[in-house]
Amino acid sequence: MNSHQASGTAQGTVFPATSESILTVENLHAGYGPIKVLHGMSLTVARGEIHAIVGANGAGKSTLLRVVSGLLRLQSGSIRFQNADITNSRPDEIVKLGVSQAPEGHRVFKGLSVEENLRLGAYMRSDKSTATISSSLEEVFDYFPKLRDRRRQLAGTLSGGEQQMCAIGRALMASPKLLIIDELSLGLAPVIVEELLSILTRIHASGGSILLVEQDVSVALGFSDRASVVQSGRVIMDGVARELLDNPEIITSYLGG
Ligand code: ATP
Repeated sequence: MNSHQASGTAQGTVFPATSESILTVENLHAGYGPIKVLHGMSLTVARGEIHAIVGANGAGKSTLLRVVSGLLRLQSGSIRFQNADITNSRPDEIVKLGVSQAPEGHRVFKGLSVEENLRLGAYMRSDKSTATISSSLEEVFDYFPKLRDRRRQLAGTLSGGEQQMCAIGRALMASPKLLIIDELSLGLAPVIVEELLSILTRIHASGGSILLVEQDVSVALGFSDRASVVQSGRVIMDGVARELLDNPEIITSYLGG
């Protein structure tokens, strides 16, 4: 159990590889025109776990997220979410099924207010009734009280940490079963990262599964249940995150040991 995970809750449960999977990707091959990036990537995210993807710059982590979200077409391979085959499904269909992503670089619509940004996140969900959206908005504001205080402020004028909260809040507005976050800590002060991790712990405790791409390997492995290490478009190692943190190969390659 890590410092972000309180005892006596559902948090921090380490899921064995045999747990029911929420996301399974198999033998993915994808890239950009002639540039091949994913070379047979396979991994499984268990329902209810926080799963980290770590690896060096350019290893293919964001590319993996793009194919899972339907933003980039696969050359071959398959992606299953719960019981549905979502291989090369459209992004809006994937969001409707329950996969929602906070993009890299805590991207927000800078010229829109915080509340407008959050409401946009609900655009793809099937139940768009006023009551449901208001209730989700309240839930997001409960997780991120700073966003409630700044609901009328232009998102472009928020601090980096607040923009990340807004990007995660927007993803939550789709009511995801799997929340994907691309680079949680990038460019943010450690104290802000701590704050975000404790909020993610609460989101996880309410039953959410989280797939986290994170360049800070010690943050990723210290926080997650399981992790996959990606190199050159393939998973080269996976397992219980805390055990990987003690793995000599990981220490040498990623933790400067
Ligand atoms: P980082 O941690 O630096 O974001 P990453 O593991 O997420 O790295 P990707 O963003 O998936 O890596 O990029 C993998 C490779 O694909 C890199 O060599 C990158 O230059 C290339 N790449 C990414 N996006 C494009 C694109 N739109 N067109 C061409 N090549 C791209």
